[in-house]
Amino acid sequence: MKDISLYIHIPFCEKKCAYCAFNSFCAKDDVKEKYISLLCDEIKRRKLPRIVKTIYFGGGTPSTLFPAQFKRIYDCIYDNFDVYDNAEFTVECNPNSITEELLKCYKSCRVNRLSIGVQSLSNKSLKKIGRLHDKQTALDKIKLARKYFDNISCDLIVGLEGEDGKALTGYAKQLLTLGIKHISCYFLEVYQNTPLFKMIEEKKYKPLTDEEQISAFEKLSNYLIDAGMERYEISNFAYPEYESKHNTNYWKRGEYLGFGISAHSFIDGVRTENAATLDDYKMGITTSEKLTVKEEDEEKIMLGLRCNLGVNLKELKVDLKENPYYKDYIKQGILTEKEGLVKLNPMFYQISNTIISNLFEK
Ligand code: SF4
Repeated sequence: MKDISLYIHIPFCEKKCAYCAFNSFCAKDDVKEKYISLLCDEIKRRKLPRIVKTIYFGGGTPSTLFPAQFKRIYDCIYDNFDVYDNAEFTVECNPNSITEELLKCYKSCRVNRLSIGVQSLSNKSLKKIGRLHDKQTALDKIKLARKYFDNISCDLIVGLEGEDGKALTGYAKQLLTLGIKHISCYFLEVYQNTPLFKMIEEKKYKPLTDEEQISAFEKLSNYLIDAGMERYEISNFAYPEYESKHNTNYWKRGEYLGFGISAHSFIDGVRTENAATLDDYKMGITTSEKLTVKEEDEEKIMLGLRCNLGVNLKELKVDLKENPYYKDYIKQGILTEKEGLVKLNPMFYQISNTIISNLFEK
């Protein structure tokens, strides 16, 4: 039997953050209960003869579910799928909603990895971007979570007002001191129709400029690498053996099934996306597409070059060596090639979009 990864989307949040453009919302308990029933129906309906190697609860904020609600979904997964004993099982949590009771529940449900949305350790910043936790809560909840879990990842945002490289490395230092094994660093993205967009327009918020963001990211990246982590993907750093297996499956274009609103799946070369609204999801509406050969090649190049896995030239239908930019990139050390495996030098991750789009051109 083939391996598969499972993604479970929990769209609920306690409060919408000022910068958030994800499909997430606040909901009353009866809506959550109804959603869990629909989710379990979907899991039963779409079960496949595959063995599960990773499970990922993402959102939204999965940690807003009560232990009994989480357990219902867990039971449904394990009743319907074969899961490896050593499967990686991650739950995204926000510091505010972590409780000892919840951590015990996760532990009893074979969860072995947490991804905590810390984002910043500045009280001023956290308040401005509408997060519910403050610095002390984040640190206390990480300490509590470490009592139960060794494998914890934290997210940090790069680009918040006043948060230069020095501030970010200070946060990273505190997180590593608490035993964090994996850090995801994301650039602040400002979407129209968000409160943050309005704050910036009204000059009430001043994110870092593009140049300042790149410089801050570089300082943070250097600090994490000096501390022994590897930048194994453009936004992700981990100590050896702590890379996210779930995300690595996406980058390798392995198969996955996504359950819940807006969730994506990739099975037998076909991509499927669930409906984005609860009403459409209830009706079981999905869209699917089979990528063309060209699109498959582009996806392999994009995913492979944005992480340390690289691109296997033999797996492409196109001859990358015929691309007018390819030779130059190799000559300049931007790309390396060894035994047919092409990798992007991590020093150039910051301009990967340009490099990748040039490689797509004929
Ligand atoms: S916790 Fe995450 S998903 Fe929820 S509103 Fe904030 S940024 Fe969006």
